[in-house]
Formats: sequence, C-alpha cells, structure tokens
Amino acid sequence: MSVRVRFAPSPTGFLHVGGARTALYNHLHARRLGGVFILRIEDTDAARSTPESLAAIFDSLRWLGLTWDEGPEAGGAHGPYFQSQRGEHYQAHARTLIAANAAYPCYCTPEELEARREAQAARGEPPRYDGRCRGLDAAGRARLAAEGRTAALRFALPGPGETAWDDTVRGRVAFRNEVLDDFVLMRSDGLPTYNYACVVDDHAMEISEVIRGDDHISNTPRQILIYQALGWTPPTFAHVPMILGSDGSRLSKRHGATSVAAYRDLGFLPEALVNFLALLGWSFDGQRELFTLAELEQAFRLERVGSNPAVFNLEKLEWMNGQHLKRLSEEERVRRVDAFLAARGYDPAAHPPEWRALLVRAIGDRLKTLADAEGYGRFALREALEVDPEAWATLREKPEVGPRLAALGDRLAADPEYSLESLERLTRGLAAELQIKAGDLMSAARVALTGRRVAPGLFEVMALLGKERAAARLRDAAARWAEESPHAQV
Ligand code: GLU
Repeated sequence: MSVRVRFAPSPTGFLHVGGARTALYNHLHARRLGGVFILRIEDTDAARSTPESLAAIFDSLRWLGLTWDEGPEAGGAHGPYFQSQRGEHYQAHARTLIAANAAYPCYCTPEELEARREAQAARGEPPRYDGRCRGLDAAGRARLAAEGRTAALRFALPGPGETAWDDTVRGRVAFRNEVLDDFVLMRSDGLPTYNYACVVDDHAMEISEVIRGDDHISNTPRQILIYQALGWTPPTFAHVPMILGSDGSRLSKRHGATSVAAYRDLGFLPEALVNFLALLGWSFDGQRELFTLAELEQAFRLERVGSNPAVFNLEKLEWMNGQHLKRLSEEERVRRVDAFLAARGYDPAAHPPEWRALLVRAIGDRLKTLADAEGYGRFALREALEVDPEAWATLREKPEVGPRLAALGDRLAADPEYSLESLERLTRGLAAELQIKAGDLMSAARVALTGRRVAPGLFEVMALLGKERAAARLRDAAARWAEESPHAQV
C-alpha cells in the first residue's frame, strides 16, 4: 500500500512548534518512503477559524520547507482539503451509520446534558451520556422534534469489549469500551465533530498512517470504532510524545515563544528549527545531531521515535542555530542577515554589499542567531550611538583616556588609506608612542565606538563606521570624558 500521511491543523492560531514537529514527522516519513504528504484544514469551527491563521500556517510550513503534495493551493484528487467544504461526505456516511443502527439522533438539549453532567459529578461519577435517546422509536423522535428540538447524531457504542491498536510509537494501546460513551458525531447544527470528520476524511484521503500528538490518544479508540462501524480498515497510528518546557510541564507561552513565526522573528534559521524539532522525540543513532532537511528525509525512521516526552531546550536550539549559520557560505549568511535586518526595518540599500559582508565577517562566530547581527551591528546600523552605562563607567574611571581617544580620532581622520591594515598600524603605533598597551587603547576605543565592551574586532568596527563617524565618536567620547571623569583637569 502506498504511503499517504497528513497534517491536519485547525486554523485557529499560529503554527505552534508542537504542530510543526507533527508536520515535520509526517513530511519526513512520506519523503523517505516516496509517499504523499497531505495538508488538510480542519476548519469546522467557523467561529474560531480565521483566514489570518490559515495564512500564518501556510507561511510557517513553507518557511520550514515542509511543502505538501496535496492540499490547499496544491490541489489533488482527494479534495476538497478544507473540512468546511466536505459537508456532503459527513452527511452521506451519517446516513449509512443510521441505517446500520450504529448511530442515532439525540434530542437532548445542551442545558439538559449539562444538568445531568453536574448530577453525575455530584455523585462522583465520570461524565458520560446516559443513552436515553438511543432507545427512542419513530414516534418518540417525532414527539421530541415537534417540541422544536433539533437532533445531534450520536454514535451507538457497541457492547463491552476492548478497542486496541498497535501504535508505531507506543506499542499496543487498549481501551475498554466501557470508559467511552455514545459520543456525538454530528452536532445539532449539522457540523461534524473532530473524531467523526477525521475518520471520514482520513478514509476518503486514503491515509495509510496517522502521525499526530499523543494528546489525541484518547480519541483513537472512538475513531477506530467509527471505522469498524463503517466497515473500513483503520490506518496505522503513531502518537508522538508531547513537548515539555524546561520545568517539565507541557510547553506553553509561559516558557517563551511557542510559534514557529516567533522563532523566525527571533533570528533562527528554518534549517536549525527543523533540525531541532526533528530531535524532539527522535534520534538517529543517539550521537549525530546535525542534519539538513534533505538529510533528515533520508535518515528519519518513525520507529525510532521514543514515547517519552521531549524537553524543549532553548540553549540547544541556539547552539544548533550557530552550527547551521556556520555551515552556510558567507554569501548565503549575508543574504540571510540582510533579509532579517530588512524585516526589522533596516534598509539593506543603505550600505553596499561589501559593507554588509564585512559586518557579517566582523561578527564571525558570535552570530548565534540572525538577531545577533542587529545586536552586534547596532553601533553601525544606527546613526545614534547607544552607550551601555556600565561600559561608560569603566572609561570614565580611567585616567588619561580622554586625550588618548582624541588623539586616536585625529589619527583616523588623517589616515588616507583607511583600511583594516592601516587602522591596525596607526592604532598600535599610537599606543607605542604613548607607551601604553595596545589592548588598553583598543578596549577604550571599542567602548567609544560601539558603546559596549563586547563588540566585533576593533578595526572592523572602525571600517564599518567609516572615517568620519569613527573619528567623531572618538572625539565625542573624549569630550564626554573631559566633562565627567574625576581624572579630567579642570
Ligand atoms: N485538527 C486536529 C489538531 O489540530 C488534528 C488531529 C489529528 O491529526 O487527527 O489537533
């Protein structure tokens, strides 16, 4: 049988990293086995589904490189791929279920159901439907309908027994039917419930393996029972473990960013996020950690996904991002930095390509995320200098710093060559003349030029600023030192 898998998000929010991992595992499984990856939109909740969320999901999936073979905008022979457009399928199979006595109309109102649930809770019983509409005959139904009640459709649970499956990740999973109840298939407004629509669509789309988060485990026995009632063979199931935050609780906003788009905006590469998400639950050989998407498409094995929850470790993601940045050619790294800075409102055309390449080269291995380009490059990207008060305090407390910075500013202004080599030569030359350590002069100049103590190499900093700006900043720092330092002559 050919491999057909699907990712089935509800467009009610951004693409969460957990959803992205589910999409990734489906994508990888399909790619390795030459199968088909389908995107299906579960938008039956009209009130919560939004076009913005849909666009954000498409956008994030494409940014990650997880393109789908069938689905919205891709087409395919099993559409439509929006559940909101598949009403007739749900209606048709509902008729089959009713005819087979596997489903029945239920006229209980939400208020009645709620009152009964409260009574059950008061008796310490689990909430379950009491089955009272199951035994209605035609006359009973007609009487309730005449009261103006509209019917939902409930599944008629078969008798006691066990519903089980061999989960690709978790092994054999079994539920006693007694823990279930006659659950709703179609609401009284005619819309299908998740479990019902999911089965109808997975069957119609010929899904061979359902790969999804293990928060759906308790839905699976219900879905299998629906397959059985319709005489269909269920797909295999693989329930992947949930993702935890650093404190061991389920990953949520409390732990920081949870959407794919937020990680993009924080300066992470799609390559790194894909690599990181792949390893949340799966390992290759317990050793190797760095993979491109193409490599994952070869290496991934669903059978090697573990059942233990995976912890989202931000430091690890940052490390991985640094590794993937290093692997890019300098040209590509510059391109990514440019795009990131442009999205942050900087005009890439404000500087020539060589300047932008020098910025990236100057930051070097300090570039762990694309946002570091902004952090380390701010001194040159912005006209106004932001000065870290602590860094300034160290300058202010040092004797003789002001006149030295002024002298360095004069030398820069008078340098006809203004290259990395000449800047280094004249800085070291000045330190020698002043009989001070070059390092001392350089660290003072670094604060004067960047406003920070930690910055890219000094001569690159000077080159990035250009002669005028660099000389002016050194002189400005000298003037400020003369005003504020206890060592300044009055
Ligand atoms: N719409 C469901 C969700 O987003 C899909 C679950 C499934 O894959 O069956 O959780």
